[in-house]
Amino acid sequence: MTIPRTLLASDLDGTLIPLERDTKSLREVAELVAALKATPSLQLAYVTGRHLSLAEEGIAEVGLPLPDWFVCDVGTSVYRRSGDRFEADPTYREQMRAAFGGLCGTDVRAAIGDLRGIVLQEEEKQAEFKVSYYTEGRHEPFVDVVRARLDAAGAKVNLVASFDPVSERGLIDVLPAGVAKDCAVRHLHDRAGVAEDHLVYAGDSGNDRAAMLSGYRAIVVGNADAALKADLALQSQERALTDKIYFAEHPYAGGVLEGLRHFGFVK
Ligand SMILES: [Mg+2]
Repeated sequence: MTIPRTLLASDLDGTLIPLERDTKSLREVAELVAALKATPSLQLAYVTGRHLSLAEEGIAEVGLPLPDWFVCDVGTSVYRRSGDRFEADPTYREQMRAAFGGLCGTDVRAAIGDLRGIVLQEEEKQAEFKVSYYTEGRHEPFVDVVRARLDAAGAKVNLVASFDPVSERGLIDVLPAGVAKDCAVRHLHDRAGVAEDHLVYAGDSGNDRAAMLSGYRAIVVGNADAALKADLALQSQERALTDKIYFAEHPYAGGVLEGLRHFGFVK
């Protein structure tokens, strides 16, 4: 009898990586890791907003194992494990370039050029297909001119802008059009060769929402905020996905393990 291959695709911060590093949370990470090790048919993918190097640091800090796949930079990069190293997936890079209108991050930077009041974020926040800026004060006054310059260069983008009240500056992310975590999870599904019902996505926040409603199985960890849980409960009902989504009692890794057991992915 062959054991069907399964895939756990999970967010890191606030899902597998606890926001509080107390003994209980870290013990629950260790329990999950033991269950994963005992299940060799289960492939593992981490899906994060972090850059690859910061994602590797994050998993090492809490003792999570190396995955088969990393999805980084909010779904704009996919890396496949080769030994102890991670290599960018060439097919996905092509897909990102096409979604960006044939451009890459360097072209996008050049198209935006110098603009008074905006400055590039730190290098570790940039990626091949993601360009991130800070704005002086609120972001709204800058969005139209950034968009106009990108349009003129033929870029196709998803412009995500927000305001950080702590630092009192705006944040602008330029991503390829239509790209977010769910896009990368669909790619993993195709590449990993698992059936739709054998892929489970775990997450805790709004940027996991689309991936959780993509028709795969989903685990919502206990610490996810109440508004997101209510929204997912309603949306999953409307889309007839209620059997596919599991609301865990436990927070963080403990919640992921609870969900994996619920779906029969681990013992
Ligand atoms: Mg998260």
